[in-house]
Amino acid sequence: MENLGYYCGKFGLLEEMTIPMNDRVCYFGDGVYDATYTANHKIYDLDEHVDRFFHSAALLNINMTHTKCELKQLLQEMVNKVDSPEQFLYWQVTRGTSVRNHVPEPGVPSNLWIMIKPGKIKDVYSKIKLISVEDTRYFHCNIKTLNLLPNVMASQKAAEAGCDEVVFKRGDRVTECAHSNISILTHGILKTAPLDNLILPGITRANLLKICSDCGIPVEEVTYTINELMEADEIIVTSAGSLCLGVSEIDGIPVGGKDQDTLKMLQDLSIKRFRETTDSNI
Ligand code: PLP
Repeated sequence: MENLGYYCGKFGLLEEMTIPMNDRVCYFGDGVYDATYTANHKIYDLDEHVDRFFHSAALLNINMTHTKCELKQLLQEMVNKVDSPEQFLYWQVTRGTSVRNHVPEPGVPSNLWIMIKPGKIKDVYSKIKLISVEDTRYFHCNIKTLNLLPNVMASQKAAEAGCDEVVFKRGDRVTECAHSNISILTHGILKTAPLDNLILPGITRANLLKICSDCGIPVEEVTYTINELMEADEIIVTSAGSLCLGVSEIDGIPVGGKDQDTLKMLQDLSIKRFRETTDSNI
């Protein structure tokens, strides 16, 4: 099949899937999601993404209808049915279906959605351009909720400015991007924002920290400023879809490019990990 959708036990082409009006996602965006990529029909970092998904759901007290094991099996079965070996795999759970009321109706089962379409991770060696935007999101950014309007508005601004991603700042402090984490490399030390409620605990961020520790690059999980970002030797943007991208410009000003050997080493190791995990040679 070209693509594939799933909603509460029903399967079909994405264009043909429908959902009930009273799914709480329609009124409240009441749910959480996770996403990753496949290559060679193998799902990249499936365990880590499913663990984070269940953790996000638990933080919102959403009751799951599937165990982690059942969900993983379902995702793999669906991945196998889609023709393209390289796919974008997305799933979400919403807090069930009931007539609109802020207070959730007790005992209503949650709704599981899965969406698969052909998709490839970005060329890890390509450079991207960012614009900086005030971080107007709320204080639950550690939960991967469906409430993404500020991220969407900021991404639209970036696209209008001919940029690829956004870097969010709260005052002077850099938090993360609209759909990625961001780290800086300066004097051979990698700095990245600490895991608090202002950033998402990215799986690729964790992979990058592990790669750094394996090759002896010191890591500091500390807050850093927009000035430090602009002055950094290299700026690294991480997400499941981009792995480990360098940044060439922020707000039209050239940045990074001062420690290309270390950046290339981290990119080589990131793509090696992706290839080994998915048994692919993309
Ligand atoms: N930060 C935000 C806001 C995101 O939406 C994402 C990915 O969707 C990330 C960071 C990166 O997370 P991961 O590396 O798990 O893809």
